[in-house]
Amino acid sequence: MTDERRTSNRRVVAARIRLGVPRADGRRAGERDRQVHFVALRSDQPTPLVLRTLCGDPLAREQTELLDHIAGMPCVRCLAHVPQHSRRSA
Ligand SMILES: [Zn+2]
Repeated sequence: MTDERRTSNRRVVAARIRLGVPRADGRRAGERDRQVHFVALRSDQPTPLVLRTLCGDPLAREQTELLDHIAGMPCVRCLAHVPQHSRRSA
């Protein structure tokens, strides 16, 4: 056994819905829908088809942009969950 597994294998990335994507309620995603959510991805597995945001919303992978940085309005519900998911071993 290596000791690689003792550290977190999750990384938290920013994600937002693509502009113009049809939403469940029939509208198309506009700028006001483009809150930046956060998603905890397992680094040892491929990105799932449905991303579960930290605030609990499902985002279809193909309709979602993954961001290297926060661009736009972050989701406050996600932000409230970030610390417990992104804790690093210092
Ligand atoms: Zn969120």
